[in-house]
Amino acid sequence: MNKRDYYEVLGVSKSATQDEIKSAFRKLAKKYHPDVNKEPDAEAKFKEIGEAYAVLSDENKRRQYDQFGHAAFDQASGSYGGFNPGDIDLDDILRSVFGGGFGGFTSGFSDFSDLFGGGSRSSSRSRKGRDTLVRLDLTFEEAAFGVEKELELTLNDTCSECHGVGGFGEKTCDYCHGSGYVISEQRSLFGVVQSRSSCPKCNGHGKSVERICSKCKGTGQVKAKKTISIHIPEGVDNGHQLRISGKGEAGLNGGANGDIYFEIHVKESSFYERNEEDLTIHVPVTITEAVLGCKKEVPTIYGNVMMEIKAGVQSGTKYKLKGKGLKVLNSSRHGDEYVIIDVIVPTKLSREQKKLFESLNDTDLEESSFFREYRKNL
Ligand SMILES: [Zn+2]
Ligand SMILES: [Zn+2]
Repeated sequence: MNKRDYYEVLGVSKSATQDEIKSAFRKLAKKYHPDVNKEPDAEAKFKEIGEAYAVLSDENKRRQYDQFGHAAFDQASGSYGGFNPGDIDLDDILRSVFGGGFGGFTSGFSDFSDLFGGGSRSSSRSRKGRDTLVRLDLTFEEAAFGVEKELELTLNDTCSECHGVGGFGEKTCDYCHGSGYVISEQRSLFGVVQSRSSCPKCNGHGKSVERICSKCKGTGQVKAKKTISIHIPEGVDNGHQLRISGKGEAGLNGGANGDIYFEIHVKESSFYERNEEDLTIHVPVTITEAVLGCKKEVPTIYGNVMMEIKAGVQSGTKYKLKGKGLKVLNSSRHGDEYVIIDVIVPTKLSREQKKLFESLNDTDLEESSFFREYRKNL
């Protein structure tokens, strides 16, 4: 399926501010809300708008989208989006944009989640487990070359004793007859007012148990240590997120497991400066090496290389070692390594060296244009 550009969907420019994005979303969400708009494609449009907003309103996701386009969230390509457009919680979005109410619409927010989740309106519906965010510290080398990691995490897991039910002898709640809610009526000036609230006996599950499970105290979940294996590909950088789907906290009422997001933090190298996939390194040369030219052994992350430094090199001269940078994520391309020459002026000379410099000083070294230019301005 060819997806439309998110900016195009919301009708905003690539440089739009968060306020502009929010206001564009507000307008479109009102226009295409399926309660109002009865055109056959309104629902699809509404979802598309929600997805675009979910990405562009989140600076982190927006940056990934700007960089990689839709591929940023394409799971088939092993992306780093840490986000699956199918998981969008439009409830949350609408609540954050419209506050407690949605204009003059009569329907509650549960209608939106039905639209997206396709679930039943019963409050005992299954729920996906919560997502977990884990900070992952990597060394410079691990980020450069990729690494396999096994991490032990403590996560909510389905209780093995009651299999997530929370107890034994499960039966339909006799208080709410399985609906999960109770309706109370109150007389007021305007007549009888009905209000709906969660069933106090089964907490909205619609089911109750004869005996509560002692292991999970009725929650159906227990904390458990889980070992998660992850493959970190070459070239990850600070702020990248890695998503392991379906390995997070257990869902409720048979819902799917949540996801685990690993947020990458890379320790700086004491040697290389990293700028995305490019590396920079400073190489010191002596004053005579600079004057006469030399061959220098220069480190790269792939091993040392011999580099020819031309005679007369100036301090600050930059050489490029093509392809010696880090691998570009999701690509076969490599960055480059930049070598910056630092000519080191000696501060301690032997008697003999001093003599040599003194006789050198008697010769005319001021032949270059730098000196002529300087003299002209005296
Ligand atoms: Zn249990
Ligand atoms: Zn009940």
